[in-house]
Amino acid sequence: MPVSISKQLFSQAQSLIPGGVNSPVRAFKAVGTDPLFIDRASGCRVVDVDGNNYIDYVCSWGPLILGHSHPQVVEAIVQAASKGTSYGAPCLPELELAAMICEAFPSIDKVRLVNSGTEATMSAIRLARAFTGRDRIVKFEGCYHGHADAFLIKAGSGLLTSGVPTSPGIPPELAAYTLVAAYNDLSSVEALFEEQGGDIAAIIVEPVAGNMGLVLPESGFLEGLREITTRYGSLLIFDEVISGFRVTYGGYQNLAGIKPDLTTLGKIIGGGLPVGAYGGSREIMDMVAPQGPVYQAGTLSGNPLAMAAGVTTLKILQSSNVYTELERRCARLTDGLGQGFAQFGENVAINRLGSMFSVFFTSRQVNTHEAVMSCDTGRYAAYFRAMLQRGVYYPPAQFEVSFVSMAHRDEDIEETITAARRALELLS
Ligand SMILES: *Cc1c(COP(=O)(O)O)cnc(C)c1O
Repeated sequence: MPVSISKQLFSQAQSLIPGGVNSPVRAFKAVGTDPLFIDRASGCRVVDVDGNNYIDYVCSWGPLILGHSHPQVVEAIVQAASKGTSYGAPCLPELELAAMICEAFPSIDKVRLVNSGTEATMSAIRLARAFTGRDRIVKFEGCYHGHADAFLIKAGSGLLTSGVPTSPGIPPELAAYTLVAAYNDLSSVEALFEEQGGDIAAIIVEPVAGNMGLVLPESGFLEGLREITTRYGSLLIFDEVISGFRVTYGGYQNLAGIKPDLTTLGKIIGGGLPVGAYGGSREIMDMVAPQGPVYQAGTLSGNPLAMAAGVTTLKILQSSNVYTELERRCARLTDGLGQGFAQFGENVAINRLGSMFSVFFTSRQVNTHEAVMSCDTGRYAAYFRAMLQRGVYYPPAQFEVSFVSMAHRDEDIEETITAARRALELLS
């Protein structure tokens, strides 16, 4: 598979855009190769500028649950564009998407639409701080909530110390407001609250962790977070930017039967266009401007193109068999992949929920951030490159989730399983 045009474009891009990309993980640094420039995509396939064709399991990092350029979504965008791309004034499609979100989430009475997941989480934190009159927040190591300053923080030397920035440009004074606990470890959360509970505005958590690879919440973990936050008068924020409409119609909270105080959304609700959202009870959301004093705004927020893509996507997801079908296909894939790994004696842990999965190159069970860190990232990189050469486009880093869409047919899944066996043959 020649990739000379991609290579040439990437070298040009590096002189124009930092690292040649507009979001870091696209640079393929973690897998020791250069990124492909994509020319077009349709269904489950992407085609690069050199004309190579790949089965795509990145799916734009989650939004494309229906696959690329779904005809009805494209048609909705075209129709909307013909009526204007942005008004900076209220429009009916905003109302439609807001109504669908509120209906799908029992915990959401009111929702504010924004342009990205980052905007949603950043705004939710501001709101939680205003509502509680407290400044500190708790997040979990390995969870990602976008790139706002408050979230680019990792645990300090001890869990009871405040966080330290993971990026230059974040004042240590700000980092002090973010406390970091361990995912699936309630005692680490209890310890923070015992020490500083009266100052903690909120816990923010991915109810299903999807940004250290896929790590599922253990039984009792989310219930425990609900209980602790209630006991201390803090808010519980579920960041469902990935899991919203991915695991069921609604969020993981619908499956778990837990009501967070605030929920953040993104990815799927924009159907492949930039959208984010945050919502919760009327009491909390009525603090947002112009109803209340908490300022948050957006020039392109609720624009009719993104609304059309989101509404159309959600309407299709309402059809009866979507989630069972996604689950069946993804299980077929992970079963087939698992058999291949076993046959070649490769130590992997495969985590799957519905249509999300991760293959971890480790001999351990992966249920904590610490276990995630035990993975052989070099082995993943070799596997990634071998798969890419065989026409399968996996996430270019061990710590990312793969997605199956409604456009991945059984034939595509079988092709992937065969490619994986060939890749393992080569690597063994
Ligand atoms: C992707 C993601 C975000 C950030 O969304 P952007 O649209 O990239 O800003 C936030 N939280 C979670 C859980 C995500 O997966």
